[in-house]
Amino acid sequence: MALLPIIVAPDPRLKIKAEAVDQVDDELRAFMHDMLETMYAAPGIGLAGPQVGLGKRVIVVDVRENAEDDGAPNPYCMVNPQIIEVSREDRIHDEGCLSLPDQYAEVERPDSIRVRYTDENNTVQELDADGLLATCIQHEIDHLDGILFVDHITALKRKMILRKLTKIKKLAERESA
Ligand SMILES: [Zn+2]
Repeated sequence: MALLPIIVAPDPRLKIKAEAVDQVDDELRAFMHDMLETMYAAPGIGLAGPQVGLGKRVIVVDVRENAEDDGAPNPYCMVNPQIIEVSREDRIHDEGCLSLPDQYAEVERPDSIRVRYTDENNTVQELDADGLLATCIQHEIDHLDGILFVDHITALKRKMILRKLTKIKKLAERESA
């Protein structure tokens, strides 16, 4: 197990379209577990392959749905996830992203979805998700198509956030130089 470095926007690696996975092998399984560990350590509720330099259609999510019961982790590792149904009702959530640290904006997405994906044992599964879990899965699948949550908000707000992140990056580079 290892913590993976998370790519921070703006970065061209976050804008690529990730490739479909043919077969989940031991190497990818281990990588997904590293992704989960990285997500929990951040802490975050979702992480997509491109955020850690993997150009493959892989996401991990855990919105701690068990938190009220026993607090046990409730992770999903999804390979080639695909939204096959969306509700007519939308939901607005103040979204953040591990690739846009400390930046938040309200994004409107379908309130509930059905997602089809391959699990880590190469079995095709379907999941009905609503609320925060639905928001999180849609946000992570966006990453696989090079879309960030700021691409859903006004251009003005997006520019403000990306400019702020560029400044923070430059400062960090100067400090480490
Ligand atoms: Zn994100």
